[in-house]
Amino acid sequence: MKFFDLHCDTIGECCAQGQSLYRNHLHLDLCRGEDFSAWTQCFAVWIPDTLRGRQALGYFQKVYQTYLTECEINKSRLTLCRAKEDFLQAESAGTCAAVLTVEGGAVLAGDLANIPYLASCGVRMLTLTWNGTCELGDGAMTAHPQGLTAFGKQAVPLLEQHGIAVDISHGSEPLFYNAAAIAKKPLVASHSNAKAVCGHPRNLTNEQIQIIAQSGGLIGLNFHPPFLKETGAAEVDDVVAHAEHMLSLGACSALAIGSDFDGADLPRGIRGIESIHAVFERFLQLGYSETLLNRIFYENAQNFFVSL
Ligand SMILES: [Zn+2]
Repeated sequence: MKFFDLHCDTIGECCAQGQSLYRNHLHLDLCRGEDFSAWTQCFAVWIPDTLRGRQALGYFQKVYQTYLTECEINKSRLTLCRAKEDFLQAESAGTCAAVLTVEGGAVLAGDLANIPYLASCGVRMLTLTWNGTCELGDGAMTAHPQGLTAFGKQAVPLLEQHGIAVDISHGSEPLFYNAAAIAKKPLVASHSNAKAVCGHPRNLTNEQIQIIAQSGGLIGLNFHPPFLKETGAAEVDDVVAHAEHMLSLGACSALAIGSDFDGADLPRGIRGIESIHAVFERFLQLGYSETLLNRIFYENAQNFFVSL
């Protein structure tokens, strides 16, 4: 099977714990991904809400060095993808296509000049906020969230100009609507589920799901149990329930996977990247067509990023 994952925090964990990307005790490594017939992995550099200004940018640069080092060490197994040709090269060589993303607009340190800098580092997607407030606006876990700041409103079109997809996962509802009003290109929710299925502030309302789908964007299903089921006792069938709900809202071209490996706990039945085959099999058992599953597990996101 082919697999595209819109979000994992593995590279930050490799950096923090001194673990290798090839083989480790985390949720994801290259060794365990080797039996996918094609595999594109977004590697997010997560910026903690405790870091702001130069510290946030400096933290990105530290994890970015780990990413570059791991890409170099593993270059026979992994292709660093910045442009369309890189994706095609990875697919023909059978290597993991690595896409660099950043989770948290604090990385900009309040300076728009850092957008072309991030693009030059190969960053292809930016999650505007994490849970709290940053220079761009308020995250979903803030008490009385406002939308985008004046700086955030300037950042969105500049990100689009530099080929960096705008990711609204973690964003508050006002921030989402501001971004949707400004964006000329499709929006992405790299790792968010449906609020109608599980009422967590991190999840998306039906209207948000429809706006993203109609924009030609992407929504990555997140495996974190509190986002899957209100009791937190989630299993693979809960992932299916969120997919089913999004499909019922017309999201079949938007739906994808955003595992949140190494950024969150996992539900019963998912241990890490090695469990993706079993998740795919469960959807098949429940009667989903292979054609639709190929779109969800790979093609929707692959087509989006190849033409970004
Ligand atoms: Zn996250």
